[in-house]
Amino acid sequence: MKITAIETHLMQVGARPVSGTSRGSDGHGGSRNWLFVRVLTDEGIYGVGEGSGWPRVVKAAVEDLARVLVGEDPAHIDRLWQRMYVASMGHGVLGTVGGGAMTAIEMALWDIKGKALGQPVWNLLGGRFRDRVRVYGHARTPERARELMGLGIKGVKVGFTGAVDIDRVAAIRDAVGPEVDVMVDAHGPSWMTPADAIRVGRELEHLDLLFYEDPIAPDNLDGYARIRDAVAIPLAAGERHANIWGLRPLIERELVDVVQPDTGRAGGITQMRKIAAMAEAHYITMAPHSGSLGPVAEFAALHVMATIPNALMLERVEFDWPGRAEVVTPALRTEDGHLRVPDTPGLGVDLVLDEILKYPSVRNVATMPEDDGWAYEPGTAGENIYFQTRLARARKLRRKAT
Ligand SMILES: [Mg+2]
Repeated sequence: MKITAIETHLMQVGARPVSGTSRGSDGHGGSRNWLFVRVLTDEGIYGVGEGSGWPRVVKAAVEDLARVLVGEDPAHIDRLWQRMYVASMGHGVLGTVGGGAMTAIEMALWDIKGKALGQPVWNLLGGRFRDRVRVYGHARTPERARELMGLGIKGVKVGFTGAVDIDRVAAIRDAVGPEVDVMVDAHGPSWMTPADAIRVGRELEHLDLLFYEDPIAPDNLDGYARIRDAVAIPLAAGERHANIWGLRPLIERELVDVVQPDTGRAGGITQMRKIAAMAEAHYITMAPHSGSLGPVAEFAALHVMATIPNALMLERVEFDWPGRAEVVTPALRTEDGHLRVPDTPGLGVDLVLDEILKYPSVRNVATMPEDDGWAYEPGTAGENIYFQTRLARARKLRRKAT
């Protein structure tokens, strides 16, 4: 079998089409994009994959990498991954953008192998521990947390967007009771100092959290060590890193208790399994990031999570946009707080190209609202996002209402 071509299918996410175009309340349908690929072969079998990590840029990278793969036998997945990696060396450390491109292609190669052998990918990875994977959802209010519980979901994550709000976490913890896991995601803001993150963490301790995610910027590894040593809550991080070398310091230094590689940009299914194995050696569990994932990479995450012993939970944003269930077939549905691991050959998912075409990509970077405390404010106390004055920082550390 030989690879004949690699197609890219890029789309805007987040809104219903209006008059045949992709438009949301801001006229752009949000800033998220999903990038899907199809790797075609001379035997009629094709594989599907997905790459996150700035999808509009990843698209160009996939198209560039295609020239080192066309004509190759898709069976030799690890060899082809190394070929892509070496071909990209001149671009420097690739990060999640290069990781997204290699992920999309590698994922599709696994899909081809599974289809060619008539086996689900999990069965080619050593078999499975479980036939369904527990998921957790996101809640900003107690009401939303209760809705998730109504779906059988037993894990709720509360995000700090803009300012720390411990009262909100406490209200959600009260609403869900002791049987449901609650997590906090601080989104690793560059303005958060380790000292402040420790103060916040100590105020969260009594809420019995499953983990405290990205309390500071992800590259501040020494800061993570300080927080780990000072706060009695398991730490989680990893969504903004790619491949075994990107995740290695978090794992090797045991800076986190839960590692969160993104299945769409960590480097591919094999990289995810290697990361899981590195984590296993340090008694660290894995809860893959899915915040920016589309519906194909979610299938890949299920195959990975089915086959590793240290699978904690999978992040799930099922209800972000109805189109999630329409651009692929079949669509994943949360049942009793879990996703079922697919049993069909390959990844078990295909693209619905006609639907994808309805949502052409418009933009792929987020702009922060002006009035929520996140705004970059030239000429004010909040001007420098890295070195905030005490007053500017305090605005974002609105830890308690009283
Ligand atoms: Mg996060």
